[in-house]
Amino acid sequence: MRQATLSTDLISSGILPVISESKSASQTYLDKRVTKSQRGTKRTRSQRARERLQTKEHLAGLARELHEGELADKLDRCHSRLSVLTCGRHIARIIPNFTCEFRLCPDCGRRRSRKLQTKYLPLMKAFMLHNKVTPVHLVLTQTHRKESRKESAARIRNSFTKLTRRSFWKQYFKGGTWSLEFTKDKNGLHHTHFHIIGFRRKFFDIELLRDEWLAVTGDSHVLHLKPILDLAAGLQEVVKYVSKPLDIRRFGAADLKEFLGLKNMRMFGTFGEFRDFCKGFEPSDDDDAMSELESLSRDLVEGCACPQCSAPLFDLRLSKSELPQFYEQIESSPPGKVRRSSH
Ligand SMILES: [Zn+2]
Ligand SMILES: [Zn+2]
Repeated sequence: MRQATLSTDLISSGILPVISESKSASQTYLDKRVTKSQRGTKRTRSQRARERLQTKEHLAGLARELHEGELADKLDRCHSRLSVLTCGRHIARIIPNFTCEFRLCPDCGRRRSRKLQTKYLPLMKAFMLHNKVTPVHLVLTQTHRKESRKESAARIRNSFTKLTRRSFWKQYFKGGTWSLEFTKDKNGLHHTHFHIIGFRRKFFDIELLRDEWLAVTGDSHVLHLKPILDLAAGLQEVVKYVSKPLDIRRFGAADLKEFLGLKNMRMFGTFGEFRDFCKGFEPSDDDDAMSELESLSRDLVEGCACPQCSAPLFDLRLSKSELPQFYEQIESSPPGKVRRSSH
């Protein structure tokens, strides 16, 4: 059996800093049409765990329709049995029996986006200190055409590459990160958005940037820009598309088939001087890239004190369907009361 070594739930268990999901006032700057696709109301951990379960079952079903039995089996096995280190009220660590590493798997995606955050947040902070730049979240959009997801992604990436070569861009931006977000409307047209954390050298007139974007795309001037006040929250917002590039629960077999054809498409990257700054620090899949906090929590064993309340931790074995129930139990427990499950 493959041993997974990373807790799947460090952020929600409070081992990692909790990044606020609430929208700050400045975010109203961002056009609702651009973000509504992935903006949900705040759900509880049990609801989110249940949704992940449903998403995976849905994906496995689609995989079977496409006769991708191996993929379906992997999705079924991924996080199907969990070793949960808990005090009864907090979860210090969850060790899954198996991780499928499929790019649309919501459990594996959470782990991947957490790795990106762990890696890039310190690099971004260091880059900002060295260069006296301020971060902004820029969303570039393009007109909708009848084209495949791959064509749509290639089109927006090409436009962005052209944009970064223009003197206007070079004058105001010193690099940053990008990620792709895909949605599909009811007419089946792909909407691809390009999310950028850009390091801005100085203020500029947004209308000038719109003109530049129109010049490279030929037909689109729609973009949105907002300052990033909290870098950790800004980064989290952008990397979430890496873990959740699209609304999978509205996915059909044809969508999955198309996605399987995109195997090597990158969903996240760096550009400009920030890319050079990051060289030698590319994300790796080995656990050396894990943060100190994660390795600390990895050292926790049964009997250790809960990092949040100091009560002794014990090991709870859960099946995948029991995890949402356990979250529910925690959510409904009055503070102070410890429930020890009989597993
Ligand atoms: Zn998985
Ligand atoms: Zn505790």
